[in-house]
Amino acid sequence: MPILVLSPDVVSKIAAGEVVERPASVVKELIENSLDAGASHITVEVRGGGVDLIRVSDDGTGIPAEEVELAFQPHATSKIRSLADLDTGTSLGFRGEALHSMAHVAEVELLTRTEGEPSGTHVSLRHGALTGRGVRAAPGGTAVTVRHLFRDIPARLKFLKSATTESNQITNLVSQYCLAFPGVKFALSVDGREVLRTPGSGRLKDAMARVYGLDVAQSMLEIKGPSPAPVSEAGMTPVVTGYTSPPSVTRATRGYLSFFVNGRWVQSRLLAGAVEKAYEGWLGVRRHPISVIILTMPPQSVDVNVHPTKREVRFSQEPMVFNAVHGVIRRVLAEQAPVPEVSRAAGFATAARQMPGLAVVVREAAAPEQPPLPEAGRAPLPILRVLGQASATYIIAEGPDGVYLIDQHAAHERVLFERALAQRGRRTPDVQPLLEPMAVELSLKQEESLRAGGGALAGVGFVIEPFGDRTCLVRAVPAMLAGKGIADAVRETIDTLDDEAAGGSEEDRIARSMACHGSVRAGQVLSQDEMKELVRQLEQTASPRTCPHGRPTMVHLSAGRLLREFGRA
Ligand code: ADP
Ligand code: MG
Repeated sequence: MPILVLSPDVVSKIAAGEVVERPASVVKELIENSLDAGASHITVEVRGGGVDLIRVSDDGTGIPAEEVELAFQPHATSKIRSLADLDTGTSLGFRGEALHSMAHVAEVELLTRTEGEPSGTHVSLRHGALTGRGVRAAPGGTAVTVRHLFRDIPARLKFLKSATTESNQITNLVSQYCLAFPGVKFALSVDGREVLRTPGSGRLKDAMARVYGLDVAQSMLEIKGPSPAPVSEAGMTPVVTGYTSPPSVTRATRGYLSFFVNGRWVQSRLLAGAVEKAYEGWLGVRRHPISVIILTMPPQSVDVNVHPTKREVRFSQEPMVFNAVHGVIRRVLAEQAPVPEVSRAAGFATAARQMPGLAVVVREAAAPEQPPLPEAGRAPLPILRVLGQASATYIIAEGPDGVYLIDQHAAHERVLFERALAQRGRRTPDVQPLLEPMAVELSLKQEESLRAGGGALAGVGFVIEPFGDRTCLVRAVPAMLAGKGIADAVRETIDTLDDEAAGGSEEDRIARSMACHGSVRAGQVLSQDEMKELVRQLEQTASPRTCPHGRPTMVHLSAGRLLREFGRA
């Protein structure tokens, strides 16, 4: 092909891909525009995962009639005038790309009226060009409607997930803005169903109650006051506020950490690391806190212009920000966290502390001799003779070639995981009906996941009915969960439904969660017979040497290794 300069429409479509990656990015840009316009009431409507329709309406300043077309020009913005404004500005938008980009990848309509104008201005665009303009009656504010997103760009459409997944991302996104702007009334409807409405009371706790449920909101610990920081850095130090969960309220995924920097929702490994580190020693393995962390800092100490969608930020002084967040959460936990109940987390921590020597041996032995490869996991076990239990956590057993330390929780997880998978496809899974139906509070995200993925749960023996207002009624659970903490098991199994990052098919993820909740805990004293039975069942599994998460179920100290360690070889 000879070299030709691309047409402006093609150039714009390509560039639009950076700002408009998926339906949720359209919603994000429109909400930010409404917030920048000072709206106190924002309504979001989505259909077909946002591909069919997205409409965001606000009661903000509106756009003057003579500027409406300008708003769709590339790099047209009312928010900054010079580079210097970038350092001091507090608006969420400033690149002047969003409306322009949307008009190139979808059909866009805009209806707006400023306070001083008698009637509103209406425009419609396609392929970036104006297709209609008129005067219409309109309430004060702006409504933008985006239809048929990516209809002309099959490559983009193909890349989108199911309508349910895209809707869930939008729900999550709107939830984050509800948390960031508790003074703004948000309403979200998905396919004609209202899924979220916040009161706009200005209190973060009220917004959290709508997003995470009342129980969680009430249990959250408030982060207040300035963060401790060296005097030399005063002025650049972020002020950290928000809420964080007590160590007794945890989740199985990192999906409940929200960070806002100067009103902007951001994803940040640095901040997530600082929070998780603050909980070190408080939480059990694979447990994560719920946190809403709000940082207020001088605009010049944070660069928001790192990424076209402004999802990531760069701090000029990363260690200082890390320490501020870590320090303030550590202090909140130390001062406010209720004394932890004896839970599985505490049991595990105690066990680990009591056996520091063993922990070291385990790591050393595990590395060279038993890489947790699937193949290694599948090698059958020799016949093992149970000798006893250590720290109420490990079963000590003897085999033909040395000694085995078996992690009782990991081993039981493996047994139950394979049992759960074996039930797959059976018409009647083993079910334990509950004598009394149990009400379990859900977060908004969980409620939506249950609605979409309830069938998969029914297939393994859960009987769960939506009960409205962030609650479900549990009537039966898979038999292996009988007598266990049902509320946690239900919530976390729902969490795994759309946790694609966790790996494996949906059925695998459900089975893993059931196995985890159904199995014996570290810290639980087992009788000799119980241990023998567990080891016998483990011997019969297909992959006895690894737990469903891929970690080892056992550490083998071979006879040869024992000889070497004791200087006998
Ligand atoms: P940016 O937000 O980066 O300025 P956009 O393309 O998102 O760029 O918007 C362009 C301009 O259109 C904004 O600077 C603003 O003046 C105007 N605008 C867009 N949406 C709204 C709205 N909801 N209310 C008032 N003005 C708006
Ligand atoms: Mg914008």
